[in-house]
Amino acid sequence: MKEISHAKLLEIAEEFGTPVYVYHGEKIVNQYQRLKGAFPGVNVHLHYALKALNNINVLKLLKQQGAGLDAVSIQEVQLGLRAGYLPAEIMYTPNCVDFDEIKEAVNLGVIINIDNISTLELFGHEYGSTVPCCIRLNPHIMAGGHSHISVGHIDSKFGISIYQLRHVQRVVESHKIKVNGLHMHTGSDILDADVFLRGADLLFDAAQSFPDLEFMDFGSGFKVGYKDGDIVTDIEEMGVKIAEAFKTFCKSYGRELSLWFEPGKFIVSESGSLLVKANVIKQTTSTVFIGVNSGQNHLIRPMFYDAYHHIENISNPKANPRLYSVVGYICETDTLGYDRKIAEVREGDVLRIKNAGAYGFTMSNNYNARLRPCEVLYFKNKAHLIRKRETIEDLYRNEVEVL
Ligand SMILES: *Cc1c(COP(=O)(O)O)cnc(C)c1O
Repeated sequence: MKEISHAKLLEIAEEFGTPVYVYHGEKIVNQYQRLKGAFPGVNVHLHYALKALNNINVLKLLKQQGAGLDAVSIQEVQLGLRAGYLPAEIMYTPNCVDFDEIKEAVNLGVIINIDNISTLELFGHEYGSTVPCCIRLNPHIMAGGHSHISVGHIDSKFGISIYQLRHVQRVVESHKIKVNGLHMHTGSDILDADVFLRGADLLFDAAQSFPDLEFMDFGSGFKVGYKDGDIVTDIEEMGVKIAEAFKTFCKSYGRELSLWFEPGKFIVSESGSLLVKANVIKQTTSTVFIGVNSGQNHLIRPMFYDAYHHIENISNPKANPRLYSVVGYICETDTLGYDRKIAEVREGDVLRIKNAGAYGFTMSNNYNARLRPCEVLYFKNKAHLIRKRETIEDLYRNEVEVL
């Protein structure tokens, strides 16, 4: 698959201005198809985790490919329905929400995933055997990487501990709840199939207590490379291993279930770039800073997760590399890249921050009263504006002036 050329990216920066998020449609489709095809002989469903990137055009693009959605809030459910997904194609996996929100989701007809015993009791009391639900278990498998994005560990607020299984069974039996799926999502950055399979084995064991299962959902955690040399999930190799384990499980369970995943980052991360302009080159006693017209307000991952995003100068790519720190214009220490070798940057050059498709725009905010950037989808050799840049009116739209 052909990448978007530097020349095309510069044209986009020229036409729509900077900062701008650019997503490559074909890359999104390609990643979806790669994952979808990686589990030979198994009925696989992918529910795209829209919290990674929720523009309606991206949702429609994935819908055309046959994807479902994984929503973590009622508002994400509503965005999914608005994009044309059927309720039955949307998995709703909330955490710590008011029970009224779960009732709302039931009324909308989406698939319900429950991750707390008190919620399960309320659910059983309210619906008995009339509305099925999936149960989110925490197998306490440690995913590698940054501690903030490991949600399977012992102190995690996510899921019902696998050690509470007996309690879950008692609640399910006494309310006659129809459990149609078991779920685990151990967090991002799983390095290899073994971690998945350890968690999967625990779910396979647990499954024997639930006779009405239709699917097993193994969440996400598919890793993409952010810098050269990063270990990435070998989807093809891992898919074969998981498919084998799943087929063996289905035999012992006595029925063929479908296998679900909820990839976010894997589908959209690499498709996206944030294009920014070098406002100033600032030489201090120890560092050469590039100050850009963006910052933690538009891409918070470097500060929030200590994430590495590759940065390149697309205006002057052939120049000799120099050592820079790339910082934003926010009144915080918003370092986007520290000690980076980048082709010599001149004030006004356009820099490309790579791998910014996931948790970029959706985590952006208006701190310092800055406006969110616009979004562009490059698809079938054409650049489409898919979200307008904010204006000053957006900042005070909901303000109520009382003085
Ligand atoms: C965030 C999330 C995902 C997606 O995770 P990625 O690392 O982006 O693939 C999947 N499932 C659930 C329940 C999530 O909260």
